Amino acid sequence: MPISRRFENSYAEDLQGLYVPWQGQDWPDPGLLLINTPLAQELGLDAQALQSPEGVAMLSGHALPDSARPLAQAYAGHQFGGFSPQLGDGRALLVGEIIDPQGHRWDLHLKGSGRTPFARGGDGRAVLGPVLREYLISEAMSALGVPTTRALAACTTGEKVLRQFGPEPGAVLARTAASHLRVGTFQFFAARGEKDKLRLLLDYAVARHDPDLTGASDAALRFLGRVGARQARLVAQWMGLGFIHGVMNTDNTTISGETIDYGPCAFMDRYDPATVFSSIDQMGRYAYGNQPAIVLWNLARLAEALLPLIDTDEERAIARASEVIEDTRAIYRRAWLEVFSRKLGLDAPDETLIDGMHELWTGQGVDFTSFFRALPDALNGRTEGLADLFETPGDTLTAWLAQYRAAISDPDRAIARMSECNPVYIPRNHLVEEALSAASEKGDMAPFTALLARVQAPFSPVDGAERYAQPAPTDAPQIVTFCGT
Ligand code: AMP
Ligand code: MG
Repeated sequence: MPISRRFENSYAEDLQGLYVPWQGQDWPDPGLLLINTPLAQELGLDAQALQSPEGVAMLSGHALPDSARPLAQAYAGHQFGGFSPQLGDGRALLVGEIIDPQGHRWDLHLKGSGRTPFARGGDGRAVLGPVLREYLISEAMSALGVPTTRALAACTTGEKVLRQFGPEPGAVLARTAASHLRVGTFQFFAARGEKDKLRLLLDYAVARHDPDLTGASDAALRFLGRVGARQARLVAQWMGLGFIHGVMNTDNTTISGETIDYGPCAFMDRYDPATVFSSIDQMGRYAYGNQPAIVLWNLARLAEALLPLIDTDEERAIARASEVIEDTRAIYRRAWLEVFSRKLGLDAPDETLIDGMHELWTGQGVDFTSFFRALPDALNGRTEGLADLFETPGDTLTAWLAQYRAAISDPDRAIARMSECNPVYIPRNHLVEEALSAASEKGDMAPFTALLARVQAPFSPVDGAERYAQPAPTDAPQIVTFCGT
């Protein structure tokens, strides 16, 4: 096999009933557009071999190696609050699992590899713009230290695919993940009342993500707590970056705690908790400020699915699961305070200061990312840059700054810490749009490549790259994002 390692197939072997064996589409002209060489190396894959015709055939789903047992995963899920008992990979394949040199197991997954039995009305395709978007934003998240699926490669298929605004180049994203188990995977068996299969799934998930719980009599309850803690910490990190996932359905909520499915996601420029970019999120269900409540709601759906495994007495199971959800609420609050403490360079969380900072921003149109990069100067007494970010800087800002300075015992140390967690470069919406349209409409990858380089090193300012650090002009049109990757 060209990529030097064989696939393992634990999902295919252990989880009958949770997938359909399936193959990728034969493409007219599969071609490699991007390969993530550092990730290939981390995985112990031969990046050269991945670029050979056999490698490209695999990465595009055109022809898979013999050791793969490709399949489309089944799952259920609450989408915008409404339950679908059967969703599943409509245009994706799990190729198999790769064991990296450290012994960690990673899924290799293709998105856009053709229709599957779960496609419903969909065409099974993905198009270039959204594939590049997921590549770019997942790489940015990884560089920002946020748990996420990773992009290994982007391929073109040689097909044109009809979408809302006309024909677009067809593409396939090859991505890796600690697993593709989701809250919706558990909901699939739970909705069918298949308790034995649910138990098998729990055992599988525990072995893969929480092996220390193997065999514990209260494994289901503790597993719920682990997933809750991972998701709570994940969303706290999103909040610290102004990241809006945009489609936090339970089928897009992982068991591993990784960010998954970068469809309509975007980073908020000007602080406003009600910010929504997705064209389909009319009610603002997945707005920036709602994400913490939604993650708990999604956890409650996982709890419901696990109830029969938590306790045979339903009332007792509900009481125990509810406690875990309450604990997760507290874990989230602590994680959120820690995230913002780090961003402020504090030695210890300071609730008054952090809550006060959020109040300070309200209605001021403050660019979220720039605020934190302006703090070091403000600590050193040069407050103009910070004040300029506010529509009406005034006494409340002055008072908050005084409180902030008083909380910092060693400004140099604080500044050094802050520069490691407050990015200069995030994938700002206007830059993302510019890079994706150049690639899709003109076949020009240069703006994409330049932006990717910046967001892959988000904490290192580069001379001449000031434009990448700046917010969109205030008169720029409001960006709207769409689901279909
Ligand atoms: P997402 O919002 O990307 O998480 O997708 C939700 C569900 O719709 C998943 O089951 C996808 O596999 C499916 N889906 C989305 N787009 C397509 C498409 N073009 N063809 C087939 N299935 C799709
Ligand atoms: Mg999804």
